Amino acid sequence: MAPPVELKSSVLRPKWSFEKALRHLKGLGRSFLDLCFPIPCAGCGRKWLLHHEGFWCESCLEKIPWISSPICPQCGRPFPKSPSSPDHLCGDCLLSTFSFDYARSAVQHAGIVREHIHELKFGGHLHWVPALAELLLRTIEREQAPRAQIIVPVPLHVKRVRERGFNQAALIAGVMARRLGVPVRFDVLVRRFWTAPQTRLNRSQRLENVKGAFQVSLSSEIRGRIVLMIDDVFTTGTTLNECAKVLKESGAAEIHALTVSRALPDWKKSYDDSSSFMDDAL
Ligand SMILES: [Zn+2]
Ligand SMILES: [Zn+2]
Repeated sequence: MAPPVELKSSVLRPKWSFEKALRHLKGLGRSFLDLCFPIPCAGCGRKWLLHHEGFWCESCLEKIPWISSPICPQCGRPFPKSPSSPDHLCGDCLLSTFSFDYARSAVQHAGIVREHIHELKFGGHLHWVPALAELLLRTIEREQAPRAQIIVPVPLHVKRVRERGFNQAALIAGVMARRLGVPVRFDVLVRRFWTAPQTRLNRSQRLENVKGAFQVSLSSEIRGRIVLMIDDVFTTGTTLNECAKVLKESGAAEIHALTVSRALPDWKKSYDDSSSFMDDAL
């Protein structure tokens, strides 16, 4: 008797399943759309990029003033005056000023990134959100940042959200959540009262201004978890610190903070004199 015919695995599991074909078609569709509608680079606007390449061309990525070592390993403060020194704790972290465990900013608050943050916050140019989020995603990858379990954007007061129509930190956090596959909650942390704009306040005035401004409304969501806070600009860190404080008091295990940019103080002045900082998160 002839031996049974052995079926090829490709017959049992057809190479071109419907799902696979659909995936392939979607991929082709995306590539076609990419080719038809490339996007201009967020930096120079001249180079046209395919979506999968990101929002910045190679040449602009090289020019961006990334924050890199030497930095403070806790709060991420850079030390541009001593470029050859190793990473070391800054004065604030030596004095345990901050309640967050880890903070990093992608770039210095200058140039094109500062312009885009301004255009987003004050001009409603929401199309910059994915490009700004990309800078944070690149920073997470470069720094091998600890993985968070929940993302929480720094909230705006409801009055300012109504005025502006959006919270820029929440928009960036939404993109981050999708790309990282980490849940985001917009209702965990709320701004209890209206605070005066921080722009012209020095550090001690800022501390006073945001004291008690935040409240955790859903502590069950953060209890025992590693929370990643997202904001656009790190100026003196008072806002992030106040948020971190209440999140910790409500049981969060660790607080990490990421901001797109970091305003570097005028190194000739004391860090307390922050009157030159015009761009704190509002
Ligand atoms: Zn470019
Ligand atoms: Zn520090």
